[in-house]
Amino acid sequence: MSELIIQDAALLDLESGEIVAGSSVRVSGERIVEVAPGGRITGDAPVLDAAGRTLMPGLIDAHVHAAVTTLDMPVMARRPASRIGIEAAGLLEAMVRRGFTTVRDAGGLDRGVTDALDAGLVTGPRVFRSGRVISQTGGHGDFTEAGPGDPRLCACHIHSDWFAHVADGADAVRRAVREELKNGAHQIKIMASGGISSPTDPIDMVQYTHDEIRAATSEAAARGTYVLAHAFAPQAIVRAVTAGVKSIEHGFLLDAASARVMAEHGSFLVPTLVVLEQLAEFGRRCNYPAESLDKVHAVLTAGTNAVQVALDAGVRVGFGTDLLGETHPAQGRELLLRARVQSPLDVLRSATTVNADLLGRSGELGTVAPGAFADLLLVSGNPLEDLSLLADSGAGIDLVVRGGKAVHGELS
Ligand code: ZN
Ligand code: ZN
Repeated sequence: MSELIIQDAALLDLESGEIVAGSSVRVSGERIVEVAPGGRITGDAPVLDAAGRTLMPGLIDAHVHAAVTTLDMPVMARRPASRIGIEAAGLLEAMVRRGFTTVRDAGGLDRGVTDALDAGLVTGPRVFRSGRVISQTGGHGDFTEAGPGDPRLCACHIHSDWFAHVADGADAVRRAVREELKNGAHQIKIMASGGISSPTDPIDMVQYTHDEIRAATSEAAARGTYVLAHAFAPQAIVRAVTAGVKSIEHGFLLDAASARVMAEHGSFLVPTLVVLEQLAEFGRRCNYPAESLDKVHAVLTAGTNAVQVALDAGVRVGFGTDLLGETHPAQGRELLLRARVQSPLDVLRSATTVNADLLGRSGELGTVAPGAFADLLLVSGNPLEDLSLLADSGAGIDLVVRGGKAVHGELS
């Protein structure tokens, strides 16, 4: 089994918020086996001299769409699956090079790409796949045109089967959930409110009944997993959480009352601020539909406020981005947008320890500790003083290690 000792690192302990100079870490295979804060580890293994640079856990992005490879939705809908797979692999490789050693795909990625990652055919982060999203008719996963004369997408019939199940009624939802779990989804994604990219649903619309959501959460629980729900409006958030949803995605319109319900149920909020900024800035140029851009502007400033509302209520706040197509390179900017309402330390906790807890992998991901995966970043500078070291496409990150192997930079 390959071994590695990292010496003279400034170890960033995200639990305590302290940086301990002169620290060492020993890696065996894909795991960390020994951590010596402020101490030296000796042995026969090859040594990497960190030369005082910051050593920290790899970042976790809990909301990506690796298979949504262009903002031009009609083009996306007609793209062959083989091309989507190749593009998704490229997007995932870029994510891990930016320091995101784990991602949760929030819908659309099929098992072919993750099988190829596991087989070592392509390089990328650890991926927790949601498979196809589950949406009601006329919901956020239903991309078909409204009927003859609907001008909102293209004249052709849009097929979105690769991205979504459209399922109505508890039995149909149950069947769709079972199918995705059978196909290897790690967790289940449902659409519980209106959204931005879909043409026919207003953003404040509440989607799915309590019974339909309960069908999804009970099926997920039967496989030892959970449901994440796209939800904007307070009513949609409360319905999802009380029906057993663990993870509320976006939550742009969260208010104090719905935040209290989230805190009572121990659910997580995964804000995704950067997608709003990027769509507002580049959407038009990339042929993103005009109706969707109107929706972006309706929630652009509410999103940041929602993070503060959640924190005030004691909700556990994770970290996500939700970038689509051409905007993926902005992934790290979410760190800076979040720093408008949180300290850099708390932003980094969201993207490591909190997200690890959300994924049910505390102690294994998002931490530098014995037994954890050796998913590590070596950074020139102190991210607690300057988050842009991690944000600007990872420009301050000299080395990314994923499972003990260098995926960006050199180990010597
Ligand atoms: Zn969404
Ligand atoms: Zn999304």
